[in-house]
Amino acid sequence: MGETKKVRHVLGLSGGKDSSALAIYLRERVPEMEYVFCDTGKELPETYEFLTRMEAYLGKPVQRLMSDRDFDHYLNVFNGYLPSSRMRWCTRLLKLKPFEQFVGNDPVINYVGIRADEQREGYISTKPNITSVFPFRDDGIAKADVFRILEESGVGIPEYYRWRSRSGCSFCFFQRKEEWVGLKREHPELFEEAKAYEKSDPESGERFTWRQGESLDELIAKEEARGAAGAGARPERAVKRRNLPLASVFAEPDDEPDDEDRACLICEL
Ligand code: SF4
Repeated sequence: MGETKKVRHVLGLSGGKDSSALAIYLRERVPEMEYVFCDTGKELPETYEFLTRMEAYLGKPVQRLMSDRDFDHYLNVFNGYLPSSRMRWCTRLLKLKPFEQFVGNDPVINYVGIRADEQREGYISTKPNITSVFPFRDDGIAKADVFRILEESGVGIPEYYRWRSRSGCSFCFFQRKEEWVGLKREHPELFEEAKAYEKSDPESGERFTWRQGESLDELIAKEEARGAAGAGARPERAVKRRNLPLASVFAEPDDEPDDEDRACLICEL
């Protein structure tokens, strides 16, 4: 008779608030927890810094899981088609696949940080050996509780929340306009890197841009024009809220309706 495999407990950190709060919430309850972070190689520096903070709090390493091939390789495979909400190959190949490889065929309980006040579904692997559980949902933990957990732990929130509302790749196509402006200001080199991925086919005229119908240069030009005109310029909402309770910093975008334009939860939760 074969030996029964021990069940592993795995929590995937995205660098976002909910999965981080869940890790803090469960630290004592699930001491055998394995923490992982699926690293696309294109994450924000603030995310890596935050993961180091989390490791200090958890007293354990957060294992970085990377695909065996990088973003540029897959971009070639997809003939230069940048990932988009309709073609989210990045999540599948750079986040989900490394996670499933890490898990292998072991029986695993996968802890997912979906809150009690959310309607959305998380990444639930179809692999039969992975059972996803939702402790926040089960325990009635809502957004305000998440802020409290982060605050009381002393870990706080990642620095990027000053100018951006989601974790994930620096060039994530789910970014809002003002977040692209924030990327240019905070990390000009990463903005330039994102720009360098935008191409147009000289023969067909087809353009590969992060945002539908406009290049990043065009976006910036429009935003600067808006700013110069003083009409409708977007204030730096997150920065203005710096000294307010965490809950008010996070008044968005979680209050926006869930729709197709939301990033995969493995990237942002
Ligand atoms: S953060 Fe955005 S770009 Fe990165 S893998 Fe997730 S959906 Fe794709």
